Amino acid sequence: MGEEKQTFDEKKAALMVMELRDTFRSGKTKSYEWRVSQLKSLVKMIEEKESEILQALYKDLSKPKLEAFISEVHAVKSASNLALKELKSWMKPEKVKTNMSTYPSSAEILPEPLGVVLVISAWNYPFLLSLDPVVGAIAAGNAVVLKPSEISPATSSTIARLLAEYLDNSTIRVIEGAVPETTALLEQKWDKIFFTGGGRVGRIVMSAAARHLTPVTLELGGKNPVVVDSNVDVEVAARRIVAGKWAANCGQICIGADYIITTKKFAPKLIDVLRNKIEEFFGKDPTESSDQSRIVNSFHFRRLANLLDEVSDKIVVGGQRDESRLKIAPTILLDVPENAQIMQEEIFGPLLPIITVENLEECFGIIEAKPKPLSAYLFTNDQRLKKKFVQNVSAGGIAINDTILQVAQPNLPFGGVGESGMGCYHGKFSFDAFTHRKPVLYRIFARDSSVRYPPYTPKKEKI
Ligand code: NAD
Repeated sequence: MGEEKQTFDEKKAALMVMELRDTFRSGKTKSYEWRVSQLKSLVKMIEEKESEILQALYKDLSKPKLEAFISEVHAVKSASNLALKELKSWMKPEKVKTNMSTYPSSAEILPEPLGVVLVISAWNYPFLLSLDPVVGAIAAGNAVVLKPSEISPATSSTIARLLAEYLDNSTIRVIEGAVPETTALLEQKWDKIFFTGGGRVGRIVMSAAARHLTPVTLELGGKNPVVVDSNVDVEVAARRIVAGKWAANCGQICIGADYIITTKKFAPKLIDVLRNKIEEFFGKDPTESSDQSRIVNSFHFRRLANLLDEVSDKIVVGGQRDESRLKIAPTILLDVPENAQIMQEEIFGPLLPIITVENLEECFGIIEAKPKPLSAYLFTNDQRLKKKFVQNVSAGGIAINDTILQVAQPNLPFGGVGESGMGCYHGKFSFDAFTHRKPVLYRIFARDSSVRYPPYTPKKEKI
């Protein structure tokens, strides 16, 4: 595999795409049977190789077994099983009504696979973010190339090895690698690029796609606000914030809480309960806890340490770190200045600043002043505030009185808006992300009205 990694260049990429395009044109991937067989093989692979996959996730991120099972392995299996259950109905042409303008006629919308698609994924949920889009691409009948992240190398090579073993290699390929390999892939003409990562690389992907007029889905990140009202059940709210921020991959999660907004008056109470919950979940020294992932590598460790060092006088909970084990404890900071770097970029780690305001209504201005986030959260019992938040805050998705759980609902589309991305997936939305909804109008030869044909006589003009 290592050798292939080093030698994968533009020429090889072009050849691979040509081969896949030939296979796609043969019609192989379009059949219901092919799609079902591949999805079933994926489920079989997950069932048979579960422990290998969990081991790889542990190697890359020290992901606790249960967390990795629920959020990665089981999540991909559920997505595959849902696609298997619903595929017939998703593939069915949708009959639509016609009106007088085409009378007599009938019409339908035919779901058509886009063709040969590229999936580029991120390192933080490396199994889920690689295979969840691939499930959609297969269900929709496409040939697919997956480029997992080089920053989670154990999972990347496990995926490459297992997909080669279990899936149809004439239509599904994995290319491992970093910038050079991805650049070689991005030179090619794809029928869709599905990218998960940050906005900087998202812009590179979108520029490359533009050269070929290739549509993109960009699953990006952002600074996700959590607004906490004083009228909440603070025990439950704190539990859900701590679980969504620190139990989920140590804050290295795109939909995790990035910062909290609460009132000056309520902040001390909230901080107390958050501190207790952190201790309850991860013990007195959370850097020793095996129930928390580690920071992915020293580059990200130093990036987070720098964010923290600039505002270290604002730490109210945590702050411990150990570079040799890439561990940073859940850390809460109170009232960091708005111009500090930690408030300017996506944190993507276990640091959580709290911004305090006199009146919670100020949250709207604070959120609006930043680029649109991937997620926004509100904890409240105030119906009016809830309504105002849902209607006025623009974010990829919203959860009220919880964090991150919106991702677990396959009937909800998952994706960003503005700087947090474009397009969406999950459930049927994954099928749609890799499908062209082709409109087809059916006409007959009888009753052919002459009105539309020249010459346009005065009599016709009156009609
Ligand atoms: P990244 O943008 O650095 O990398 C993503 C992918 O792009 C990787 O496969 C990488 O190999 C490739 N890449 C990196 N540099 C490239 C270049 N110059 N040219 C071409 N390809 C390149 O992102 P990351 O660090 O892997 O992930 C973290 C980011 O992803 C965060 O911003 C996070 O919010 C976001 N994210 C979003 C979601 C989502 O579903 N919306 C999920 C996870 C992570």
